[in-house]
Amino acid sequence: MYDVIIIGGGVIGSAAAYELTKYNLRVALFEKENDIATGTTKANSAIIHAGYDPVPGSLTARLNVRGNELAHEICKKLDVPFKETGSVVCAFGEEDDATVKKLYERGVQNGVPGLRILNKEELRALEPNISAEATSALYAPTAGVISPWEYALAFAETAVVNGLELHLNEKVTDIKENTVVTEKGEYGAKYIVVAAGVNCAEVEEYVKEPDFVLKANKGEYFLLDKSAFGIVNTVVFQCPNKDGKGVLISPTVHGNIIVGPNAEGSSDRTDVSTTAQGLDFVRNAAYKSVPSLNLSTNIRNFAGMRANTNNEDFIIRFVSPCFLSLAGIKSPGLASAPAIAEYVCELLSDAGLKMDKKESFTDSRKVIRFKELSPKEKDEIIKKDPAYGRVVCRCETITEGEINATFKTPIPPVSIDGVKRRCNAGMGRCQGGFCAPRVLDIIHKHTGIPKEKILKDKEGSYVLSGGAL
Ligand SMILES: Cc1cc2nc3c(=O)[nH]c(=O)nc-3n(C[C@H](O)[C@H](O)[C@H](O)COP(=O)(O)OP(=O)(O)OC[C@H]3O[C@@H](n4cnc5c(N)ncnc54)[C@H](O)[C@@H]3O)c2cc1C
Repeated sequence: MYDVIIIGGGVIGSAAAYELTKYNLRVALFEKENDIATGTTKANSAIIHAGYDPVPGSLTARLNVRGNELAHEICKKLDVPFKETGSVVCAFGEEDDATVKKLYERGVQNGVPGLRILNKEELRALEPNISAEATSALYAPTAGVISPWEYALAFAETAVVNGLELHLNEKVTDIKENTVVTEKGEYGAKYIVVAAGVNCAEVEEYVKEPDFVLKANKGEYFLLDKSAFGIVNTVVFQCPNKDGKGVLISPTVHGNIIVGPNAEGSSDRTDVSTTAQGLDFVRNAAYKSVPSLNLSTNIRNFAGMRANTNNEDFIIRFVSPCFLSLAGIKSPGLASAPAIAEYVCELLSDAGLKMDKKESFTDSRKVIRFKELSPKEKDEIIKKDPAYGRVVCRCETITEGEINATFKTPIPPVSIDGVKRRCNAGMGRCQGGFCAPRVLDIIHKHTGIPKEKILKDKEGSYVLSGGAL
């Protein structure tokens, strides 16, 4: 019997696991895929929003602002790439100027620190490439950019170190009162927490007809090469509209530029393909903010699926005495994740779960990033382990030592993208064209998985069609 079973290993389930393992509780997490962060958590704008956008007094407003505050300290402790770039919401004309003022007032009500309205000149001083048509902007210094999958992995790995029982490749297929039924067995729990992303309604249905309507909504992106870095310094938004926060141009923590997303309702919540129309929309909208943007430096397109519902707010509540459902966790879900996790603990405690803090909780994590080391440190590490002297991913300068190290982490990778999420091999200009075969060899060496069975990412994504002749 577990105290708590979490369903879903995205950033929300992983953050909940991190927070819950701070207590003397037996906690398990079930994830249907072969890794953490393979759902919406790996395909979004990667912004830790400041919190001026959600309606004052809403759960989303409170959890976004608190989540932003927590991200700053958690990323330091758990060694997650995070840059406090700040963000600007740009106005183009009088109507937008009024929206900017409204967002400023909302932000002040929500308790967002440091907000300022910039006039045209101040905006251009901060963002020299911004369109001459921009008339004013809301500046939020506490907004930042993060590596979303590393955030989720950091939460989940730390939780495993502190006792989380992680069940990957195990889809939950039913819930019968206190029993979670999976493809592999049945597990009892005092409480069940659902963090199933776009599957929130499907999983809730196992217990009760959901009181909300899921309106899955796709967002498509361009990811630009590092040569585009510097075109903007902050996260550059346009004014939000009925479809959401609009198209942004932003630096990424990995030194690229991301441009997107559009917002397109989707009847298939598993469809994360990109489309010519979607990308055209993004392209035209982005030129409005930065006319000199060079989209020919594009190295990848991708799309993510929002768990939008007919409710503007996050939908977090018990739907039965033991079943806590976290539904409709759309943007700013990533920014709010650690605050949602705190709230989960609060709700479980209020419901009667005995929450005694553990005497010892490991709250740190360290990742060696070879290219960030000083020449002296590089020299020392290569002397200790010559694999750090062999660069495997040339675009990102990722060494064999770093790839080997991912297999010693609490949640070792099993796929090429699993390695990429942990150490960035394959993230660069060639998108793994050169290093993927080497990474495949290294996965085989560490896991013994036959090479032709090694996946690019999810189930079925084989890379090789058979063994060597
Ligand atoms: C286009 C776009 C842009 C966004 N931009 C931002 C942003 O800049 N900032 C921000 O704060 N937020 C942003 N968001 C929102 C943010 O990405 C999400 O709120 C967050 O990633 C949701 O995390 P999650 O853990 O709920 O969902 P997911 O990451 O989807 O995780 C859910 C997990 O549950 C698993 N699962 C589902 N069903 C089952 C089952 N039956 N059994 C076992 N496992 C199951 C899935 O496999 C998945 O791994 C954006 C979203 C999109 C789509």
